[in-house]
Amino acid sequence: QVSRGNSMSYGLGGKAGRVPVGISGRRLRIVVTGGAGFVGSHLVDKLIARGNDVIVIDNFFTGRKENLVHLFGNPRFELIRHDVVEPILLEVDQIYHLACPASPVHYKYNPVKTIKTNVMGTLNMLGLAKRIGARFLLTSTSEVYGDPLEHPQKETYWGNVNPIGERSCYDEGKRTAETLTMDYHRGAGVEVRIARIFNTYGPRMCLDDGRVVSNFVAQAIRKQPMTVYGDGKQTRSFQYVSDLVNGLVALMDGEHVGPFNLGNPGEFTMLELAEVVKETIDPSATIEYRANTADDPHMRKPDISKAKELLNWEPKVSLREGLPLMVNDFRNRILNEDEGKGM
Ligand code: NAD
Ligand code: UDP
Ligand code: UDP
Repeated sequence: QVSRGNSMSYGLGGKAGRVPVGISGRRLRIVVTGGAGFVGSHLVDKLIARGNDVIVIDNFFTGRKENLVHLFGNPRFELIRHDVVEPILLEVDQIYHLACPASPVHYKYNPVKTIKTNVMGTLNMLGLAKRIGARFLLTSTSEVYGDPLEHPQKETYWGNVNPIGERSCYDEGKRTAETLTMDYHRGAGVEVRIARIFNTYGPRMCLDDGRVVSNFVAQAIRKQPMTVYGDGKQTRSFQYVSDLVNGLVALMDGEHVGPFNLGNPGEFTMLELAEVVKETIDPSATIEYRANTADDPHMRKPDISKAKELLNWEPKVSLREGLPLMVNDFRNRILNEDEGKGM
């Protein structure tokens, strides 16, 4: 079987003088599904900056054109409004498959659609990869570990997931997407990569997507109390978006299928996170307790030894360094919103 998309060589040009090219000698052409979203748009910026041609596929469920508007008019960039649940024909070398709502508020909004996106959407992108011999990367999630009984989580852990709960559309959807990815790899010889992403934050997150970092930051800027769910002692490990993007590219361009945990092992309780947000944005910020959501994982922290060893990757930006980097973006957008309301 000839696998056109997988052999890369390096042509001349670009910032560093070396631009990855496809086998035909032209520039590497890459699809990013979900490229108008938070992570996707940062990934697209990196790929464009290193000289690739990028096609974004997005249905704008949670993504926004504003995240990509600076690329409009760039001849190496193309944006297609398309739902990955429907088939599509394209010719590319690599497929980064991100399309899927990531915030619990968004993925629970229409759980059946979330499952369709994860299952039919991933199937279509794998079918596309098979037809054209492209390399396929799935952005899976730490949610495949559910409410983990092993801590920190290694890639070998099979997880503790409720199959019938409110989060299942996402958790089980992503688990099925991983299964499909491995079945296309084993059965059809598709070159695949699997990333298990842990909680990530940064500029361009939706202001009101309900995730904890965006909530606390927006609340502190708006002088509202930060809403801590439950007793606030549950933990998460927060990764800055540039670290994730570097990890995704290292994974795609490397030789290993994965799965790989991509996350920052720095672990915080929600109360500790609130304290860091307070120090960063407003020392007078207060907190308010709210009931927690169903099936909320008690703790989560990646073991990243595998990615360190095989991808030579590790995160560089700590929470205290990363939070200030998203504050300006949030302040500007909140200000624009207020002006829009005539405030
Ligand atoms: P996001 O909601 O900002 O981006 C998702 C993008 O996918 C949006 O632009 C949305 O419009 C698009 N989309 C959704 N359904 C689609 C469909 N059916 N067809 C076409 N486009 C569709 O989320 P994000 O934080 O950027 O997450 C990107 C990916 O990374 C997701 O697959 C998510 O599961 C994964 N991930 C993210 C995190 C995180 O903390 N951000 C953690 C684990 C995994
Ligand atoms: N598919 C697609 N674009 C392509 C090739 C396939 O969207 O270029 C879709 C196709 O419509 C199908 C899915 O991917 O729904 C799986 O394709 P595959 O060829 O693996 O399976 P089959 O079509 O035989 O079910
Ligand atoms: N959380 C919180 N306040 C909020 C939003 C979330 O305390 O305003 C908690 C939530 O209960 C969970 C953690 O923060 O324990 C992370 O939630 P998020 O939705 O950001 O991500 P996920 O649950 O998918 O890890």
